[in-house]
Amino acid sequence: MTATPLKLFNSLTRQLEEFRPVHEGEARVYSCGPTVYNYQHIGNMRAYVFADTLGRALQFKGYKLTHAINITDVGHLTSDADAGEDKMEKMAARQGKSAWDIARYYQEDFERDLHRLNVQAKAHPRATDYVAAMIEWGQKIADKHCYQLDSGLYFDVSTVADYGRLARAVTEEGEGRIENVDGKRNAADFAIWRKTPPGETRQMEWDSPWGRGAPGWHLECSVMGEALLGFPFDIHTGGIDHREIHHPNEIAQNQAYCCTNGLDRASNSGANIWMHNNFLVERSGKMSKSAGEFLRLQLLIDKGYHPLAYRLMCLQAHYRSELEFSWEGLGAALVRLKRMVMAASRLRSDAASKATVKPATLTGWMMQFDYAISEDLNTAVALTLLDEVLIMKNADAGQRLTIFERMDAVLGLDLLTLARTDLRIRPKSATITEAEVEAKLAARKEARAAKDFATSDRLRDELAAQGVEVMDGDPLGWEWKLG
Ligand code: AMP
Ligand code: ZN
Repeated sequence: MTATPLKLFNSLTRQLEEFRPVHEGEARVYSCGPTVYNYQHIGNMRAYVFADTLGRALQFKGYKLTHAINITDVGHLTSDADAGEDKMEKMAARQGKSAWDIARYYQEDFERDLHRLNVQAKAHPRATDYVAAMIEWGQKIADKHCYQLDSGLYFDVSTVADYGRLARAVTEEGEGRIENVDGKRNAADFAIWRKTPPGETRQMEWDSPWGRGAPGWHLECSVMGEALLGFPFDIHTGGIDHREIHHPNEIAQNQAYCCTNGLDRASNSGANIWMHNNFLVERSGKMSKSAGEFLRLQLLIDKGYHPLAYRLMCLQAHYRSELEFSWEGLGAALVRLKRMVMAASRLRSDAASKATVKPATLTGWMMQFDYAISEDLNTAVALTLLDEVLIMKNADAGQRLTIFERMDAVLGLDLLTLARTDLRIRPKSATITEAEVEAKLAARKEARAAKDFATSDRLRDELAAQGVEVMDGDPLGWEWKLG
C-alpha cells in the first residue's frame, strides 16, 4: 500500500471518505453497465473511463481488484421509473431482429469500445443469465416488502428506512418517478417483476411465481452485485442520473434483502461507497442518442481521432465535474497525447542509452502523484505531474522511466505502446492511402536534396489536391496531416 490514504467521495454520505476495504488487501467494484439496445455514446463511455481509472487507482494503491461492469440486456424501459416501452423489444421491432440478437450485437460493439479506451474490467455479467437468481431474490423479499398488482410485483418503498437518501434532484428527476400504474401505494414504488399483459407475448419472458414476464430493471444490479462480489462490497459506480432513481431503488432492495433497517451504516446499502461521475454534455445540452449527430467513439475514429485522445480528454476534467464535449477540445487532447507519446519514446531511448546508478531523487514526484490520485482521483493534477516527469532535464532517465511507467499505468494511456504515427489524424473519408503519401514525400525529399524545386513544388501541390497538408518543420515532427 502507498503512504497516502485513498479518499473517495461517497454520494451516500456526501463526503470524502477514506477507503477501507471490506476484505483485507482487496477492492471489489461494481459499475452499472449499458443497456444494449443501441450503440453507446461517448457520454456513456465517460462512465467507464471513470470506473476504470478508479480501478487502476485501487491497484496502484496495492489492492487486488475485482471489477464487474454489467450488461443490461433485459428489463430497462424507456423511462428509468418503470414507465414506457421495453428498450430492447422496441429496437428489435424497429430493426426486424430478435431482442437477443440486438443484445449480442450491441454488447460486442460496447466491448470493442471498452477495449479501445483501455478499460480493463473483463467481467461483463449479463442480466439474462441471472433471471433465476432474480426470481429467488424476489421471493425472499416479497412478503415483507412487496405487493402484487395486475401488472406485476411492486416494491413498497415505505417498508425500508431512509428511502431515497442518495437522491439529490427534486425537480426534473422527481417527475420521472410518477408513473402511471394503477394501484401503486407510493409514487416511488417500482417493479420487481413485470407481468406480460394478457394476450401479449414478449421475446424475453420467463415463468415466475408472479406470472410469466420479465424482471424489473433495478433488480439485476442488486442480484449480480451480490452474486459476484458479496454484500457488502466496496464500491458501486454509475453516472449521476443513476443517483436519482436506479441506485436508490437498488439500495432499497439491498436493505430488504439484508434485513437491515436504515442506512446508519453505509454497508447496509450493499456497498460501502457509492460513486457517481458527472455528465459529458454538448453545448446544446444533454447528450442523446436520438438528437443531432450521434457521438459514438466510432464517429471520433472515423473523423481521424485516436480513441485514447478521448480518454485523455476525460482525464483532464475531474470526474465529478460536468465536461463539455467539443471537437476543438478533442483536438487539443490529441495534440497533448502526441507530445506525451513523443516525449515517452525519447525518455525510453535516453534510459536505454544512459544507464546510470544515480541515487533515487524522484520519490517526491511519485509522492505528489500518489497524493493527487488519493484525493478523490485528481487526474488533472496527476496528468501535469506525468507531463513534468516526461520533460524533466536534470534527472536520471532510468528513474524517470520507472516512475513514468507507474503513472501511465494509473492513467491508462498506453503512452509507451502508442506510436506517434498511430495518432495521425486519418479520416475515413480520405481518398489517399498513407503509403501513397509517404512515397510522394520521399520523392519530394529527393527532389529537394537535388535542388529540383519544380518537382518538389509539384508533388506538394499534388498532395494538397488530395487533402494532404505538408508540414515542413512541424515541432511535433508530423511532416503531414490530412485535412
Ligand atoms: P445507460 O445505458 O443509459 O444505463 O447508461 C450507461 C452509463 O452511462 C450509466 O452509468 C449512465 O449513468 C452513464 N451516462 C449516461 N449518459 C451520460 C453522459 N452524458 N455522460 C456521462 N455518463 C453518462
Ligand atoms: Zn445498475
